[in-house]
Amino acid sequence: MRIHTLRERLRALGANPRHEQRVLRLWSQALPQTSGRRQIEHFLPSALVAELPAIADELAALARLESQHPGEDGSARLLVKLGDGQMVETVLLPRDGVCVSTQIGCAVGCVFCMTGTTGLIRQVGSAEIVAQVALARSLRPVKKVVFMGMGEPAHNLDNVLEAIDLLGTVGNIAHKNLVFSTVGDPRVFEALPLGRVKPALALSLHTTRADLREQLLPRAPRLSPEALVEAGEIYARATDYPIQYQWTLLDGINDSDEELDGIVRLLTGKYAILNMIPFNSVEGMPYQRPSWEKAADIARRLHRRGILTKLRQSAGQDVDGGCGQLRARASMPVVR
Ligand code: SF4
Repeated sequence: MRIHTLRERLRALGANPRHEQRVLRLWSQALPQTSGRRQIEHFLPSALVAELPAIADELAALARLESQHPGEDGSARLLVKLGDGQMVETVLLPRDGVCVSTQIGCAVGCVFCMTGTTGLIRQVGSAEIVAQVALARSLRPVKKVVFMGMGEPAHNLDNVLEAIDLLGTVGNIAHKNLVFSTVGDPRVFEALPLGRVKPALALSLHTTRADLREQLLPRAPRLSPEALVEAGEIYARATDYPIQYQWTLLDGINDSDEELDGIVRLLTGKYAILNMIPFNSVEGMPYQRPSWEKAADIARRLHRRGILTKLRQSAGQDVDGGCGQLRARASMPVVR
């Protein structure tokens, strides 16, 4: 279900824009269904009131909790069943965050990511994205939503932008706490500045070498690292939020002195934060995680050279909920 089809249905039942907002707020903020419904019912047209229980059931069926896998760091990987039986993974993050999936599988095929190994199975609809947030909110408070779960949000742009618009308006999430994550697609740089809700942007850089980037992210758009940073900088200055550059540290692959020089060359003077995340081990992948000491040394050296660098442990990695570890866990036909 798309959010705009839900809006059309509400309007067909007599809802005006204010009624519509009340219903969408109740859903996206996961306000207690029975008491919340009672509170808004006397403001709504009778045809809509009569349909509300059926609509609430349909919305609840968009994303049902199949299982929950708590990590030691306060995160939890949720296996979530969508209306047609397909599964996505959603990760509850420490400090009131949630990481949502925007596709089942992914076509980009980053060589260090489990999600990419299946190819694209299907898009996740805008209502299914918001339903993941509503499900998370039924379990704990959510103040931040990152679009970093399964899938490349740029490949499902209309649905992701529709979800962002809802979450940043009636969904009560601060715009800068909505984080759109992408390998870098020119359509993103065109579309994001036009929305009434402008999310923060995370760009997957991973290397400063164009040739290596083509190997690591084989089906990402062929934007050079320089062009990516240039486009990111324009968005950062327009929104006044720094770009979060993502760098999965692969031992012996993208941790050389040459790469560190490249980072300093690309990011000096930019409104940017570099998030370095040591590779999360995935069975069967030929990459190694650098030691924490080595990663900390790299981060320190970059810091000394003026690059705001954060070394991060991926939340939920002990329960396969970390960056690059999410995957479609049920057997499903692959659609390309
Ligand atoms: Fe897709 Fe992101 Fe995994 Fe790359 S890292 S394959 S873009 S889900």
